[in-house]
Amino acid sequence: MSTLEQTKIEQTKIEQTKPQPAALQFPALAPPRRYLFGPGPTMVHPRVYEALSKPIVGHLDPYFIQVMTDVQQLLKTTYGTNDGATLVISGTGSAGMEAAVANFVEPGSKLAVFANGYFSDRLTEMAKRNGANVVRFEKAWGETYTDDEAKEFIAHEKPKVVAYVHAETSTGALQSGKAICAAAHEAGALVIADCVTSLGGVPVEFDKTGIDIAYSCTQKGLSCPPGLSPMAMSQRAMEWLRARTTPSRSWYLDLKLIHDYSTVSHRYHHTAPISMFYALREALLVIAEEGIENRWERHRRCNQQFVKGIEAMGLRMHVPAEHRIATLNTVVVPDGIDEAKVRKQLINGPGIEIAGGFGPLAGKVFRIGVMGPLATEDNVQFFLKEFKQALSA
Ligand SMILES: *Cc1c(COP(=O)(O)O)cnc(C)c1O
Repeated sequence: MSTLEQTKIEQTKIEQTKPQPAALQFPALAPPRRYLFGPGPTMVHPRVYEALSKPIVGHLDPYFIQVMTDVQQLLKTTYGTNDGATLVISGTGSAGMEAAVANFVEPGSKLAVFANGYFSDRLTEMAKRNGANVVRFEKAWGETYTDDEAKEFIAHEKPKVVAYVHAETSTGALQSGKAICAAAHEAGALVIADCVTSLGGVPVEFDKTGIDIAYSCTQKGLSCPPGLSPMAMSQRAMEWLRARTTPSRSWYLDLKLIHDYSTVSHRYHHTAPISMFYALREALLVIAEEGIENRWERHRRCNQQFVKGIEAMGLRMHVPAEHRIATLNTVVVPDGIDEAKVRKQLINGPGIEIAGGFGPLAGKVFRIGVMGPLATEDNVQFFLKEFKQALSA
């Protein structure tokens, strides 16, 4: 050990032997053990926890630049893009949403939104604050759009940008993006896809679908703590961005600056959260080792097992089979059951966290995530047993 290291460690010891009275009233961190069967945050892979504890380096250190580059490369496979650009926003999924909106929606430009749940409302609000002229195709929470509906809406509105939520976490519905992207491109529009809940759990297939701008988060399908928002942008989107002459209203989320910092010049833009990048790199590596397609298949299988078990209890799913998100289930609360009580029972008993519905679905559905390390046959069985017990209590 170098003298420098020794000195530092000894200093730490001295500080530790003299805690100030004001600190003594706080117990040491001891978070309760939870099984995170909710929509997110979800269970973190043990290797990701390990990565979080590695020593940090400077944010312009060549080691960190390499970590950032590795993350971008791993994200290409996870998103399913060859020539798209990938980068990471320092912020949660909402920061990715805000980056997409602030950079691709200019004041006065028309944004068409497929509005069938909570997150399309959040997107609408952000777009309005950025001065967009927002037009919405409203549907009930849990419904999806057919190819013809998507085509007609876009052809009629002729927007500059189209936005949809791929996996709507508030409803459990999965919206296919193919027809939306084809119609948007025909109208000369760019497409923003919210992939916050889908990335890493169900197929996003960025290139194949034709998405131009996608954002996600770390704490849902990627089995990592919250804190970052991985994004992908098509060549079309990058060209559009380069050609934009007015500056984005957000400096922190300016994708031109962030792309330059993270991919081109590596000149300081903001101090990236080093440990979270370690964590994301490890999470993406775990996914790459399993194989993204194997991971989708594992989630699909567990979803079938889950639904079978739910239906065997006499319960119903909120979304029709062909439009369900494999990783996030909305189960209809049976008559006479107080869903909040069931959730309380689960958290206080076996320590299982699930979520309730909100907005129009408040009190009407349970939202149950089966993803990442929890998506195994044994874990689904464990959950179903505890859920049944909590319902009958
Ligand atoms: C969770 C979520 C968001 C917001 O992400 P945060 O990480 O909570 O900021 C956006 N869109 C969808 C579909 C989500 O599920």
